[in-house]
Amino acid sequence: MKALVLEEKMTLSLRDFPIDADEATLGPRDVRIKLHTVGICGSDVHYYTHGKIGPFVVRAPMILGHEASGIVIETGTEVTTLKEGDRVCMEPGIPDPNSRATRLGMYNIDPAVRFWATPPVHGILRPTCVHPEAFTFKLPDNVSFAEAAMVEPLAVGVHAATKAQVKPGDLALVMGAGPIGLVTALSALAAGCARVYVSDLDDAKLEIAAKLGPITPINVTRQSPAEVILKDTDGWGAELVFEATGSPKAAATIFEPLCPGGRVVLIGGQSEPIAYDAGAAMVREARVENIFRYAHVFPRCVAMLASGAIDVKPLITRTFDFEDSVHAFEVAASAPKGDVKMQIAMPQ
Ligand SMILES: [Zn+2]
Repeated sequence: MKALVLEEKMTLSLRDFPIDADEATLGPRDVRIKLHTVGICGSDVHYYTHGKIGPFVVRAPMILGHEASGIVIETGTEVTTLKEGDRVCMEPGIPDPNSRATRLGMYNIDPAVRFWATPPVHGILRPTCVHPEAFTFKLPDNVSFAEAAMVEPLAVGVHAATKAQVKPGDLALVMGAGPIGLVTALSALAAGCARVYVSDLDDAKLEIAAKLGPITPINVTRQSPAEVILKDTDGWGAELVFEATGSPKAAATIFEPLCPGGRVVLIGGQSEPIAYDAGAAMVREARVENIFRYAHVFPRCVAMLASGAIDVKPLITRTFDFEDSVHAFEVAASAPKGDVKMQIAMPQ
């Protein structure tokens, strides 16, 4: 089948790609899905530009893409919750159901998890895929395929807000106005934050952020988040800081805007060890949480998109046709200002 293939670092092609028989076989509890919309993730772009993320190295041609929605076109013999024609979104990580981490309820950190477009596992920038019913979620009529393809990144924000234990009326700072920063800001507001500050270097992205709700944009080239937040709170600080830039420079400042007893969630990926100010954390008795992807949040994300509690549409800034997907990745790799989420529409 025709797929978007990362041949090696900096080489993409749209070509016929043979899918292994075992990957194409429909098990009794699997569904076959025709892909509709696929989001371009920072991780897809990073594999394209660097050929690896941490320990995951692209050693053989790999199909990209893991943020997806589609239509069920075939169901396994034991599938009960989905039927042909259902509109769905898919959770891209399939854990080993018998692993120790999975049995403890932490399937996202199961070392054996198979995650789309993480070498050597193929992604879904291709016409169809086979996926377990348990990780495929039916969409209500009022959630579009484009919104549904945003559920995967949104799940990261919802998982981060859950780990942060947001309380009604909390103030939060989200560092980074990329897709993950903005879905985290939306999740923090949906979880009860009174106001969220979002910091970034890019005014165009901050402008999008400011329209999403009670959000105060902070351009870090002109002001420091700590300065703004301490001034607004008579020196107290924000209850929550979410680090979604992955920048060691940003991480070095995470406690400055934090109030006594506050919580910090580290979301941004770090390829090298980073330092943070443990003394500043100590005097605040700060609680620091780390997240890796998400677990058990897709149904919540779909429910919030359906009810209107969260609107991800303003984050989708560009859509390309599948035929144009090599170009789409070149554009994404150039990190154009003002673009948050780019998506690819699959041929229907
Ligand atoms: Zn993603």
